[in-house]
Amino acid sequence: MKYIFVTGGVVSSLGKGLTAASLGTLLEARHLRVVLQKFDPYLNVDPGTMNPFQHGEVYVLNDGAETDLDLGHYERFTNCVLTRSNNLTSGQVYETVILKERRGDYLGKTVQVIPHVTDVIKDRIRELSDESKYDVVITEIGGTTGDIEGLPFLEAIRQFILEVGPENVVNMHVTLVPYIKAAHELKTKPTQQSVAKLREIGLQPQVLICRTERPLDRDMRCKLSMFCSVSEKAVVEERDVEHTIYEVPLTLHAEGLDKLVCDLLHLETSEPDLADWRKFVERVVSPSKHVKIAVVGKYMDVRDAYKSIYESLTHAAASEDCGIDLKLIDAESLEHGIDAQLKDIAGILVPGGFGVRGIEGKINGARYAREHKIPYLGLCLGMQVATIEFARNVCGIKGANSTEFDKETPEPVISLLEEQHGVRNKGASMRLGTWPTQIVKGTLAEKIYGDTEVTERHRHRYEFNMKYRDRMYAKGFVISGTSPDGTLAELVELRDHPYFVGCQYHPEFKSKPNKPHPLFRGFIQACLKRQLDRATHAGADQEKSCEPMLLATDARHPMVP
Ligand code: GLN
Repeated sequence: MKYIFVTGGVVSSLGKGLTAASLGTLLEARHLRVVLQKFDPYLNVDPGTMNPFQHGEVYVLNDGAETDLDLGHYERFTNCVLTRSNNLTSGQVYETVILKERRGDYLGKTVQVIPHVTDVIKDRIRELSDESKYDVVITEIGGTTGDIEGLPFLEAIRQFILEVGPENVVNMHVTLVPYIKAAHELKTKPTQQSVAKLREIGLQPQVLICRTERPLDRDMRCKLSMFCSVSEKAVVEERDVEHTIYEVPLTLHAEGLDKLVCDLLHLETSEPDLADWRKFVERVVSPSKHVKIAVVGKYMDVRDAYKSIYESLTHAAASEDCGIDLKLIDAESLEHGIDAQLKDIAGILVPGGFGVRGIEGKINGARYAREHKIPYLGLCLGMQVATIEFARNVCGIKGANSTEFDKETPEPVISLLEEQHGVRNKGASMRLGTWPTQIVKGTLAEKIYGDTEVTERHRHRYEFNMKYRDRMYAKGFVISGTSPDGTLAELVELRDHPYFVGCQYHPEFKSKPNKPHPLFRGFIQACLKRQLDRATHAGADQEKSCEPMLLATDARHPMVP
């Protein structure tokens, strides 16, 4: 078994997760079986209780674990399917140690960081060390070297290397080489100091991944090599990518990273086969057309809050040889002036969310999509607001609401499940993880999926209230997918609309490059169709081109990290 540990230096947000995931892509392309895990030094047991401003998106796994968004990169960039063992936080470590202490497992002993805390951390690495399943375990350590919280994890790695032998381990340090404008120079000092910090703890990196805006010249590489005790060919440049994060594996391959790591680990492999990946990147970078999509959410300034959704749109668009001009709309701003913001949009997506802020704006967005026959994709909360909208404005159920936003609503079209009523704890207490959906024959959903049984990942408390099913159906609101016992609505659609789909689950957690999720793909196809129809229509009417839809890429285009 071989191990790669990925640490970060100088500053956070260097894209360590992406780098680790990209190395995973490259090793898989060399036919190695890879698994990735993330250690997060914060004291929360999981990120499920943090808000997106703090943490970005919470990524949900099949087994219902609420995890760090880097696990999303891991699943998108490799074939591994992760479980809760793949994300360990200090919160979990201390919880385990304290429970053991109370149970009497350490009877007679003083419980200490070394060895008790570090033992729990090492156990987690060993849990994945199953040679029948994997050749390489890549472990990313969150935070920045020098953080107090990170110390037990680094100490555990030091011990672990001693136990498995240094020939089976590569320490990869992702660091920043900043460009100082006034001096016209790249600077190596922060990296030197960060590596010195690592060595203080007893860890020597074998590979330096240098995040930089400018190319590293030979002198720079020599200097970094000498001061950090890393061979010159192991000083790897990772420049900011031009177009898309999916370029990262290709740029790292061009720098020789995968070969280097395999040599260091004494792994004999074939050259990597990156043909499909390259084709995907080409389609993302130079699509033949663009489509303008609005995402109506609450955290539009937080790049990472809807990460998997933006990625899923990219995957689906690439499969249609199309780029996305993304318009990010703050839901509160849709409480007024809707037309001005949505009139030239080819599709509207409302993501998941919690709490009442922005709800009326999202409801207005769903209404606009319904009335103007604009393709709509509602994810989780996005499905719930579409339900409330339809109940209020089509079925005449004026007070329709979710009990999440109005506990006393007379018309709870969305409400709490019976079994959720007694739940007091907020952590890990929702309907989480993979659940099956039975799709109704003859619906748009069946056409999109090409199947009647699917499994999708959930993260929510509230559900469609089946008491309203018949009344809404009579007006054209179709429940096109349910739980196998028929009690829970999983998918909804509108009868008289080209593409109005809401799902109670989160399809964005299952989309990958070259494997777009059917709901996203169907959505993009419908958006393209609408755009084409409108252009043809406009052209016939007044010889107008479709230019208004072919806008330049939004400056906040998510495809650029
Ligand atoms: N707040 C809603 C619920 O808990 C929707 C959750 C979500 O969008 N993930 O049911």
